[in-house]
Amino acid sequence: MAEKIEFKTEVNKLLDIVINSLYSEKYIFLRELISNASDALDKLKYWRLINPDLAKPDAAYKITITPDKDHKTLTISDNGIGMNRDDLINHIGTIAKSGTAEFLQNTKENTSVVDLIGKFGVGFYSAFMVAQKVEIITKRVDCDKAYKWVSNGVDGFEISDAERDTNGTDIKLFLKDDATDYTDTIYLRNIIHTYSEHIDYPIVLNLGEAGEETVNTASALWTRNKADITEKQYKDFYQHVTKNFDEPWMTLHFKAEGSIEYTGLLFIPSKAPYDLFQPDRLTGIKLYVNKVFISDKVEGLMPMYLRFVKGVIDSADLPLNISREMLQQSALIAKIRQGTVSRIFKELKKRAENEEDYAKFWNAFGIAFKEGIYEDFSNREEVAGLSRFYSTKSDGKLTSLDAYIERMDKEQKAIYYITGDDAKTLACNPLLEAFREKNIEVLLLTDPIDEFWTQTLLSYKGHDLKHISQADMKLDIERTTPKADEKGLKDLCDKMGEWFKEEVGKVDVTEKLTKSPASLTVEDGQMSIHLERLMRNHQQKTNFDSTRILLINPYHPLIIKLAELMGNQDKAEEVKDAAQLILEQAKIAEGEAVSNPSLFNEKLSEFILKAI
Ligand code: ADP
Repeated sequence: MAEKIEFKTEVNKLLDIVINSLYSEKYIFLRELISNASDALDKLKYWRLINPDLAKPDAAYKITITPDKDHKTLTISDNGIGMNRDDLINHIGTIAKSGTAEFLQNTKENTSVVDLIGKFGVGFYSAFMVAQKVEIITKRVDCDKAYKWVSNGVDGFEISDAERDTNGTDIKLFLKDDATDYTDTIYLRNIIHTYSEHIDYPIVLNLGEAGEETVNTASALWTRNKADITEKQYKDFYQHVTKNFDEPWMTLHFKAEGSIEYTGLLFIPSKAPYDLFQPDRLTGIKLYVNKVFISDKVEGLMPMYLRFVKGVIDSADLPLNISREMLQQSALIAKIRQGTVSRIFKELKKRAENEEDYAKFWNAFGIAFKEGIYEDFSNREEVAGLSRFYSTKSDGKLTSLDAYIERMDKEQKAIYYITGDDAKTLACNPLLEAFREKNIEVLLLTDPIDEFWTQTLLSYKGHDLKHISQADMKLDIERTTPKADEKGLKDLCDKMGEWFKEEVGKVDVTEKLTKSPASLTVEDGQMSIHLERLMRNHQQKTNFDSTRILLINPYHPLIIKLAELMGNQDKAEEVKDAAQLILEQAKIAEGEAVSNPSLFNEKLSEFILKAI
């Protein structure tokens, strides 16, 4: 008896996009199905390893492609792990890849297959670009029953019992009238050569009476000699392991020899994936032991901050029958990680010589990479050295800490930075005025993560790293303008401290401002205003703990005027209003919101009116 099951909403949506697609490169469906077959063979190989009781394979692992011109069908078969009934329902009938369902649920009419491919690949469902009906016959290796799954890709699928002698899966496509080319052997051979050459299992073209023909060379790409691999082959392999459709930004193929031997074929993509910041994301490295796929979820194989590195690591020195959980704690894994990370660093250093090229990497992955400064304690100087920043002197380009140090004046001992929401707001922060005046470069840090690594990297190559509010060097500016009266200034500070005691812990005079009347900062060693704001935005904090300090500029005409009016009772009300506006201005410059916008606007209008 066939059971009819409806597709979930997101599957329907995906199929709708796939079926109605005008995408011209429909042949990618074959690459997707061959890739699934190869995964199924990988899984079976691993299963046999950890369950020696499983029956011996009765044929060599392979993928068979059978075109049938007369019946307009194309069948992709594998003798891999196969699927049971639940697998068919849970894996084929749903979209497992994290984020796809949400993406589809939120998409509007304009999504195209190209978008889907760019973001997720489209896997099994891409078959419906060329097929009006798909029939799967499959038998899982640990199950004595076989099942048939049939769907027209429109209103769900039917599952029924079926016959299949051995384990594996046949995926039969009933081709659409405009897709009958896919029964042409020359065309098929061509597609397989182009997109699936690197697959590690023989891909066999079933020519019927003319016999069988193996199309690919079927040797794991990473085991071959570098000199024998073309760039195109590397790229195809990259697209296979990452399911990306772009070019790799970096390809790193190496053999490590020594106490532990392993081969790595690693890539850095040219674009950041949509889920770079998904917390449950694991590393994208596939671990093989002597060409047997073990897992792509071995924690500890790659540090989290390099989670965008994809590819394969293969070592014959790892025990074959070790469980995935045990692997995670293995000292060998830690050794492989160490060696691999230092190779990646070395390669990045080389690539960094070309600034423009390196900026591509940095713009895509810099935010994740910087996590390494606090996450990877032993390598943090190295990570910091490979990091890039904007600064007051970098002229819109990125700069390294080393380049900053080179530009430093002899007297300057520390590397200065300022943190905030965006470069534009930062650039007008009053605290920068003295640094500009003294021609001292300041790094403009605008990623939330910057607040965290700056807490751990206190120095770099012998130079302290300091927030500009903590600068202890002499930044006093030579003045040609008059200064406010001392007595009036002191009274003003006292009064402002009293008026605004709810908002600021202290009001002080500073010599470090030129253009602005005032600026907000915090007590040394306390959480910066920007960090507080970040935490507030993430609901981790609702009140302020840092003591805010309002610094006023005794050379500013506004402050001079207010100091002068301190003794004048008739003006008391106006002085207070003006002081309030100065405080609000300082908040705005810091990227903070004014505390009472309507009152602020009212007072500001009053003052403007008086002025004109
Ligand atoms: P993905 O390959 O990205 O997981 P697919 O839609 O291509 O997405 O496939 C969904 C799932 O269906 C696979 O993860 C796998 O569990 C199962 N599957 C697909 N093809 C096969 C096959 N030939 N043999 C066994 N399982 C398969």
